[in-house]
Amino acid sequence: MTAPPAPPPQPPQVRPAPAAWTEPGAFEVAPGVYRIPLPMPNDGLAAVNVFAIEDGSAKGGLTLVDGGWAVEAARKALEAGLKQLGATTRSITRILVTHSHRDHYTLAVQLRRELGIPIALGIGEKPNLETIIAGISNFTPQLPILREAGAFELADFMEKKVRPMNLADGWELPDQWLEAGETEVGQRRLTILATPGHTRGHVVFADQENQLLFAGDHVLPHITPSLGLEAALTSSPLRDFLSSLAAVRALPDLKLLGAHGPSGASSHQRVDELVLHHDQRLAEMLAVVAAAAPEIGVTSMAVAGSVGWTRHKRALADLDPFNEMLAICETTSHLRVLTETGAVVRRHDPSGVALYSAAHPVASGSQP
Ligand SMILES: [Zn+2]
Repeated sequence: MTAPPAPPPQPPQVRPAPAAWTEPGAFEVAPGVYRIPLPMPNDGLAAVNVFAIEDGSAKGGLTLVDGGWAVEAARKALEAGLKQLGATTRSITRILVTHSHRDHYTLAVQLRRELGIPIALGIGEKPNLETIIAGISNFTPQLPILREAGAFELADFMEKKVRPMNLADGWELPDQWLEAGETEVGQRRLTILATPGHTRGHVVFADQENQLLFAGDHVLPHITPSLGLEAALTSSPLRDFLSSLAAVRALPDLKLLGAHGPSGASSHQRVDELVLHHDQRLAEMLAVVAAAAPEIGVTSMAVAGSVGWTRHKRALADLDPFNEMLAICETTSHLRVLTETGAVVRRHDPSGVALYSAAHPVASGSQP
């Protein structure tokens, strides 16, 4: 046991946990650790949690886990949340960022530009930031995946929406690249665990002594994270994600502090649910592939069209184009894993479309 961190000079005016996790404020989730949800205007995720940890480095010093999205509403919510803790943005000593998505990274960069606060990010995110800084447009990496999946119309539609990433929005390299290992936040020792999948360089921070897991988007309490939506693609984001879930499952059971949703779930329970979800999706998609005539095969788009999406099991055709793109990319990630495990065989037709068929006859399939 270690002594808890010294209390700040003024007791923070921390509110009880709200009914809705998106409600603004600063909410104590563990001694000396506060959840500050920041709004995400016009985004389905609604809000992103920034966690402020008392680090004892200076009078009221705070280390943030994740920085939020550089939009005015988020900046104001951060300032208001810090004020509740008797702090300001000048109290922030360092920002540890789980991954380079805009809702986690860009406000950190804005704060650094103004106040010089150092930012640390997992080394695995380097190719993503470098690719963005080199001038890639958003969605460009996803277009070949869509075409290989047979989704030509959607690819053409998304290609018209492509626009260059605005570097002024906060796409800069961090001050420090984090490797797997440990980092100290005051008296706390945080284990840095590389958890690729959601993005290639995602990291989580585990405070094992206090049973806390700052999980970013790797393990979320209510939704399954998107996979590989990033500038520099990897070959098998679902395989990476499943390995990263196993790595988190190998830690002791911790209190889940995820970036989108309420805090406090069991990390073990939630990881088990996510693994089960993907097992079920793999089985569901394998059944679709197995039902296709092996000499013809089936495209990733057709597989995506044969399974339900979101917890409401919506049809692919009912999703908006952005989510349709995510669904097809996710299906392709699952088919990739099925190909790697040998359950499915992939070949390409003359136009470059990938066709999947079952490697072995399936007993309940259409074979005579
Ligand atoms: Zn993310």
